[in-house]
Amino acid sequence: MSVSTAATAQTVCAPLPVLGGDVTVPLVTGGEVAYAALDYAASAPALQRVWDDVAAYAPYYGSVHRGAGYLSQLSTDLFENARLAVARFLDCRETDQLIFTRSTTDSLNLLARALPADCRVFVFETEHHASLLPWPDARVTYLDAPRTPRQAVETLERALADRAPHGPALVCVTGASNVTGELWPVRELAAAAHAHGARIVLDAAQLAPHHPVSVRDLDVDWIAFSGHKLYAPFGSGVLAGRADWLVAAEPYLAGGGASRQVTRRADGSVAVEWHENAARHEAGSPNVIGAYAVASACKALTEAGWDTLVALERHLIRTVREGLAEVPEVRILSLFGDDAPRVGVLSFVVEGWNSSHFAAALSAEYGIGVRDGLFCAHPLVRTLLGADHQAQGTCGAPEAAPGEKSLNAIRVSFGAGT
Ligand code: PLP
Repeated sequence: MSVSTAATAQTVCAPLPVLGGDVTVPLVTGGEVAYAALDYAASAPALQRVWDDVAAYAPYYGSVHRGAGYLSQLSTDLFENARLAVARFLDCRETDQLIFTRSTTDSLNLLARALPADCRVFVFETEHHASLLPWPDARVTYLDAPRTPRQAVETLERALADRAPHGPALVCVTGASNVTGELWPVRELAAAAHAHGARIVLDAAQLAPHHPVSVRDLDVDWIAFSGHKLYAPFGSGVLAGRADWLVAAEPYLAGGGASRQVTRRADGSVAVEWHENAARHEAGSPNVIGAYAVASACKALTEAGWDTLVALERHLIRTVREGLAEVPEVRILSLFGDDAPRVGVLSFVVEGWNSSHFAAALSAEYGIGVRDGLFCAHPLVRTLLGADHQAQGTCGAPEAAPGEKSLNAIRVSFGAGT
């Protein structure tokens, strides 16, 4: 984790001439400024090495899958090699497809569009909205928040066993919570899903940047993650996993690149033969730089060594938790208890403080950038807060009156990859 601080200032000026002038961010304090916020769970700062790799690619930039020219061929190779590199990073099976998307949200929406017609979906209410909301409402079973990893597995097993008719089913589960940072028992949940004839997709948005992930070892059917949380820039994500549902589905977007052959029929209509590989769901000109940047970030993490990264992050988590434990007014939010293994994400409330005001004060007075709100996981945060009301929650800042129970929380998140 790196937090760079600048000299005291009332106003920060970012020299971004492309926007037509300096961008100014007014501050209400003369305190130090943390440019890199403790908000890695939202977006982790892209690695310098990734920016360098992208810059090194600039002279070779060309269209992919379309041109006969040297640069086109080179770009096509880079794009397809990026696909292979990310598949290796995830330890995908030989037969898996890896589709480049915009983000985890995009990946899970793509999968939701590829569900077989009679497929039921099982999802814990604790999920990030990206995992909670893409599924057709009439076909979803929402599972109550478990209070232990074992309870999560038992809850899922019961729900799957009770389902009728016993058709196709998909379980969607997060690997690490974006609210508590707690690790979920993915391997056990996958085994339970498979034992009941269901499939499972892993939302690895918070897991993949902090922890080695193996699709084979976890035995998940699909995995989704976002580049911008894994030290690559915004705009690229991944969905990888079993090909059959993806090949049977209509293309996520219709257009060039996804279609192999388009012909006019005798009756004047148009017949389309769609690709059966990843291109089926990647219509339009792909985000080659995004894919290349994700592959570069994956390589950087692998080369840094997961043992080193995980050990460093554990040390950081321990330090933050011990520091917060010294403040009696602080309550750390946890579903599975204090000893649960977790990544570098942690949410808390401060007794007597409105979380939004507290977060604003951290920024204004100490230059510490954190996030406040319900973190796009409204049901989970309300469960953790013990809130029995329907707060007007947004990802931003519902407010409690002075002396009332907090309606939202404060989150610090960081990573060892930087
Ligand atoms: N899943 C989890 C666990 C997340 O934390 C997030 C983002 O915060 C997402 C999914 C959605 O990621 P994105 O906004 O990149 O689509």
